[in-house]
Amino acid sequence: MSNNELLLQRSLAAVWHPCTQMKQHALDGLALPLVPIARGQGVWLIDFEGRRYLDGISSWWVNLFGHCNPQINAALHAQLDELEHLMLAGFTHRPVIELSERLSALTEGKLGHCFYASDGASATEIALKMSFHSWRNRGREAKQDFLCLAGGYHGETVGALAVTDVALFKDAYAPLLRSAATVASPDARLAESGESACDVARRAAADLELRLAREHEKIAALIVEPLVQCASGMVMYDPEYLRLARQLCDRYEVHLICDEIAVGCGRTGSFFAHEQAAIRPDFVCLSKGISGGYLPLSAVLTTDDVYQSFYDDTISRGFLHSHSYTGNALACRAALATLDLFAEHAVIANNRALAEHLGTRLSPLADHPRVRCLRQRGMIAAFDVLTDDPAFALRFYRAALAREILLRPIGNTVYFMPPYVISRSECDFLVERAIAALEDALMR
Ligand SMILES: *Cc1c(COP(=O)(O)O)cnc(C)c1O
Repeated sequence: MSNNELLLQRSLAAVWHPCTQMKQHALDGLALPLVPIARGQGVWLIDFEGRRYLDGISSWWVNLFGHCNPQINAALHAQLDELEHLMLAGFTHRPVIELSERLSALTEGKLGHCFYASDGASATEIALKMSFHSWRNRGREAKQDFLCLAGGYHGETVGALAVTDVALFKDAYAPLLRSAATVASPDARLAESGESACDVARRAAADLELRLAREHEKIAALIVEPLVQCASGMVMYDPEYLRLARQLCDRYEVHLICDEIAVGCGRTGSFFAHEQAAIRPDFVCLSKGISGGYLPLSAVLTTDDVYQSFYDDTISRGFLHSHSYTGNALACRAALATLDLFAEHAVIANNRALAEHLGTRLSPLADHPRVRCLRQRGMIAAFDVLTDDPAFALRFYRAALAREILLRPIGNTVYFMPPYVISRSECDFLVERAIAALEDALMR
């Protein structure tokens, strides 16, 4: 038995893989292949037999500067020899201080208080709890509810799932969840004839206003994924929605939480996606790319106004939340090395040219008879495939792997979210192979 096969069998016996019907990995029929990987290098993942795969989705949207990035590796080696971890209650350390200062600087000091956790869902939970508790500390106990967008995704723990609107993740656990109200998504694909994406955004904002006018006394916060609702299929929308949502949240005294877990860190063309609407949220959630895809880390940035609402002589008015690994020194060091790469390589500007190249290569697909809504925002590109095959995503995924690329459609939406270090020629390779995989998948 080959190394690959042996590891595959051991994994299937002992590892329960995420977001997976394990029976689909059974080694017969139209099976989902489980791929053991030996090592990574730049945009490539390499298995135990030397086969390689171009990581076209940045390993679930986390990897920004390639696998085994020499600069991040070096920073982590140095940190390992100094301090690996330390409880953050009563103690502090250089990496967490520096990271907090640099994140604050990225918001021009407007979101200058940084709270840490280990994953995205926890960041969502923290933002929700902080918003609620902040209102309560100000005597607004009635503000206990949250608004979220149709098709929004904010994580899968019980609290985060309550503000998520993706049926596949939510339906099975619905009885466990606190209910949250869902307002219209500004999804640009909902444009009726003669309508622009901006019109759709205004229409969705009108729906938000109706809800706020009626229920604002009970609503603590609105949570949104700025510009792209990634998990429900790279749903893109006009920044006008964020501008209007900010105005409405101000008018009705409701916090605005921008969940930048997927779209932050330069993914959409600016460091934070919300910058493209020239607004400031009350909370920003960051995770995924912040550590360069190296270590679990998340952060919630908030304003001095929120911070001051907790600042008091009474312990119970403080923010009562902790994780064992809060502010982990290695993860913070990986994040600092990641921010160094942004600064040293003019990443945001370079990504603009790279995104344009990707868009040009994908553009012929606009005329493909089975392709709809080819769309792009920075380093995220997507299209919908016209098919009634319920196994399309699986078929495409397999066809892509056979052609040395890792792309994992969401339903009938094929998307590209490559690491920022992808070269022009690797980008061409990715698109060429993706188009071939599309033909394979459609042929059945
Ligand atoms: C991935 C994601 C999360 C959850 O992050 P985890 O680390 O997987 O818990 C939350 N919100 C958005 C927008 C995400 O894309």
